[in-house]
Amino acid sequence: MKTKKLAVLALIVALVVVFFAADLGRYLSLEYLRQSQQALADGYASHPWLARGAFFVVYVAVAALSLPGAAVLTLAGGAVMGFGWGLLLVSFASSIGATLAFLSARYLLRDAVMQRMAQRMAGINAGLARDGAWYLLSLRLIPAIPFFVINLAMGLTTLGARTFYTVSQLGMLPGTAVYVLAGTQLGQLRSLSDVLSPSMLGAFVLLGLFPLVAKAALGWLQQRKKLAPWAAQRPRQFDRNLIVIGGGAAGLVSAYIGAALKAKVTLVEAHAMGGDCLNYGCVPSKALIRSAKLAHQLQHAERYGIHSTSRNNDGGQSPISFKNVMARVHAVIAAIAPHDSIERYTALGVEVLQGHATLRTPWAVEVKLHDGSVQTLTARSIIIAAGAAPIVPPLPGLAELGCLTSDTLWSALADREHAPRRLVVLGGGPIGCELSQAFARLGSQVIQVEMAPRLLLREDPEVSEAVRAALVADGVSVRTSTRALRCEKAADGSKVLVVEHAGVQEQLPFDELLCAVGRRARLSGYGIEALGIETQATVQTNEYLQTLYPHIYAAGDVAGPYQFTHTAAHQAWYASVNALLGDFKRFKADYRCIPAVTFVDPEVARVGLNEQDARAAGIAYEVTHYGLDDLDRALCDGEAHGWVKVLTVPGKDRILGATIVGSHAGELLAEFTLAMTHGLGLNKILGTVHPYPTWVEANKYAAGNWKRAHAPQAALRWLGRYFDWRRG
Ligand SMILES: Cc1cc2nc3c(=O)[nH]c(=O)nc-3n(C[C@H](O)[C@H](O)[C@H](O)COP(=O)(O)OP(=O)(O)OC[C@H]3O[C@@H](n4cnc5c(N)ncnc54)[C@H](O)[C@@H]3O)c2cc1C
Repeated sequence: MKTKKLAVLALIVALVVVFFAADLGRYLSLEYLRQSQQALADGYASHPWLARGAFFVVYVAVAALSLPGAAVLTLAGGAVMGFGWGLLLVSFASSIGATLAFLSARYLLRDAVMQRMAQRMAGINAGLARDGAWYLLSLRLIPAIPFFVINLAMGLTTLGARTFYTVSQLGMLPGTAVYVLAGTQLGQLRSLSDVLSPSMLGAFVLLGLFPLVAKAALGWLQQRKKLAPWAAQRPRQFDRNLIVIGGGAAGLVSAYIGAALKAKVTLVEAHAMGGDCLNYGCVPSKALIRSAKLAHQLQHAERYGIHSTSRNNDGGQSPISFKNVMARVHAVIAAIAPHDSIERYTALGVEVLQGHATLRTPWAVEVKLHDGSVQTLTARSIIIAAGAAPIVPPLPGLAELGCLTSDTLWSALADREHAPRRLVVLGGGPIGCELSQAFARLGSQVIQVEMAPRLLLREDPEVSEAVRAALVADGVSVRTSTRALRCEKAADGSKVLVVEHAGVQEQLPFDELLCAVGRRARLSGYGIEALGIETQATVQTNEYLQTLYPHIYAAGDVAGPYQFTHTAAHQAWYASVNALLGDFKRFKADYRCIPAVTFVDPEVARVGLNEQDARAAGIAYEVTHYGLDDLDRALCDGEAHGWVKVLTVPGKDRILGATIVGSHAGELLAEFTLAMTHGLGLNKILGTVHPYPTWVEANKYAAGNWKRAHAPQAALRWLGRYFDWRRG
């Protein structure tokens, strides 16, 4: 703490110490006030201005230093000076004192609190930036939380001092008036609790409800204003409770929940039920990765003492039938498809329409069915779950030479006997890394091109390095800090991607080019522009997942900020419950513990913060590490590499995040996700019996490492001495 801050703190502490040491509080008791009421009244009659000045200064000091006694002082104001002067002086003195307390807390503590709790404070501050004045007004009007707590707590936020003062003065006025009025009746009051009689409290509750009612009314007016241009088109009756646009993860879960709640739900899907995940994303990529892993294991079978007769290293027939691998990929899709099928959802009570949906008004959705007919449906609520599509970068020559994306590769390569001989993968994110490794293991010569200086930029640098090493070991040529410039045909007629690295251009020949540079939310082609629904990179929503129109929600990739199947499903719960039951209770989407797995080998799994996130957010953390090269099960499996890294609050076992690199990392992560979601610390993981020999023991060993680093050394020394003594 700087000298100036220390001086301010010392002054405050000194004044508080004097107050208690000299027992000045006795002058601020109801008893004292009663006894001296006459003497005070006489003093006030002879020197009114002096008395008012002294009262004002004392009141400001008591409020500013958060000393007990403000309530008695307020009564005294009424008892001695009467209602008018009492209310005037108390109102200003309490607001000024509260603001001084607010400013002191801000000056002395806010930076430290922000540093330690940056993430939590960011959420609170965002809420206060939006609704801070209303929130403070309700706190002031309902005297349920002591005012000094409000003053100090608000000082730790970013709420403006001017707003704080103005709202405090206004919000405390009714309560102050009640207390000052009660003071004028002091003769009849026997204790402070008389002021808090049921009728008095009832009045406070009513006053407290006022801002909430006012806020609800304001919200209603704003909603009406947004919908005013469409008022004429608002149906008198709706044919459905909910229409869901898109049958991917977000849409399916939304429809499922709606039907489970017994609402009348229609789900519209333009292409294939199951969306990206089933048809072009998670499922085919993981099926491909499984075949690729087996190919890799066969190639290294002798490491396990097995001589693979079908292995081929030198030009003979390859053991891999790429066509069969792709057939298996499609068989896996077909095996999972019933989970997302029209039949299943129809049986669950959802009406499923196959066609293209377009929003025509905020309540009407036009569906162009696959048979060419058109239906217009209306619903009280709508969920947009239209997903995202792969980005194809605007590289000169790319359109002419063509490229694969995650949307096209599964069908384009389905009948190939062999994996593309020379494959260039554009993109070093999760999808680019997963597919580069899988194709390399299935026989392609893969060059992976990434503009950033490292792969998996969102992970800590050592994770990126481990993934690069793994890809290189599998034969991928990883080119980071490399920019793709254009596609062209070389002199020999082969297709090349021209890239630039460190100012030098190079031609990378390819048979297939796979674009895996990200996926962009679908924001056009279904009427949201015409309705004026705000979009940036995604459809803009609030924390309840409401769009511009409060009854139109968005969930999944189209809403962001994540692009995972599990986050799409997670958001779908909030969107559908809020859409159907929001009149009674709404829920804010909670993103505190979102796990993410990149299915490279070794897997990369993370939940919560990693070191780079923590540093960027200014959050203090401690790191605990456990190397998987030490884990018995990993040694048995011949996969003893990777690590578990846990970030905790310094000195505490509270988990801020965990990153795991290694086999089964995605499965191991579940325990940390559970712990973080439910506020369990590393001690709880350590205190849980884990079966031997399993991979998940790694979590317990990481927790054990944390415990060892925090062992009470002094107590252990004493214990050692005790045992020395016990041996005699
Ligand atoms: C190669 C790859 C691998 C992936 N691997 C993983 C993984 O391992 N784990 C993971 O969690 N995530 C993974 N993902 C991401 C995951 O697939 C998506 O996050 C998820 O599918 C998003 O679901 P969604 O419902 O938001 O969108 P989508 O699944 O895209 O569904 C949107 C649906 O809306 C339909 N639609 C759009 N507009 C209309 C309209 N106007 N009318 C009717 N229907 C419409 C579309 O046809 C589509 O079916 C992967 C993605 C890819 C591409």
